[in-house]
Amino acid sequence: MRKKIVAGNWKMNKNFEEAEDLLFDIADILKENRPEDVEILVCPPAIYLELAADIAHENGFDCGAQNMSEHESGAYTGEISAAMVASTGAKYVIIGHSERRTYFGEKDSLLALKVTQALKHNLTPIYCCGEVLAEREAEKHFEVVGEQVKNALFHLTAEEFEKVVVAYEPVWAIGTGRTASPAQAQEMHAFIRKVLSDKFGVAQADQTTILYGGSCNAANARELFANPDVDGGLIGGASLKAEDFVKIAGSF
Ligand code: PEP
Repeated sequence: MRKKIVAGNWKMNKNFEEAEDLLFDIADILKENRPEDVEILVCPPAIYLELAADIAHENGFDCGAQNMSEHESGAYTGEISAAMVASTGAKYVIIGHSERRTYFGEKDSLLALKVTQALKHNLTPIYCCGEVLAEREAEKHFEVVGEQVKNALFHLTAEEFEKVVVAYEPVWAIGTGRTASPAQAQEMHAFIRKVLSDKFGVAQADQTTILYGGSCNAANARELFANPDVDGGLIGGASLKAEDFVKIAGSF
């Protein structure tokens, strides 16, 4: 059985006090009603990672960074290394979110380096892929997502790849309120699994957790997660409210 995961991407939201409140709110709800058989994690701004790791680990959830440098250390002002992320107690890192690709020009070749760097420091990379609307309308979505997966993950050995989580996030669905239909999500997740299986083998692809992200919320999570190849979600906006976030985690 592959792992089910619900991860919250807080993006650039919350001041320190608000972040602390949200972490404790999630912890309180989980104490009352913890969804079973699902790993729950939050990805706050990096400045709150140590706080998040402390609160999360005491309360049965986890945390991760939203990004990290491809470099080991040194003169890279403003950057945060994989070793720094790991030293806070965080276990995951989101790599290749569409906002990083769009606003910070991150390309697959760079993301391949980040994936390797994350694994070197024992962080679980959550590698994001997804097409923009024009690509879907031109019926190029499978080609685009297939290339993103190959370009950033196919340099790994099967053993290295074992730890990787993939998140399919159609860009047209992120923060737009326009969710992929359950059929669209399932079709793409099955395609990604096939691409992975051609490279890493059926057994390995079968063990790979593939998350859906893009306007997933407490109202639509259940029908998305009901698909055989959808193993959970990467949640943006709806992860900023503790009740909604935990409800999503309970939607399997
Ligand atoms: C995201 O940022 O990864 C995301 C899925 O955002 P939202 O849920 O707000 O669409």
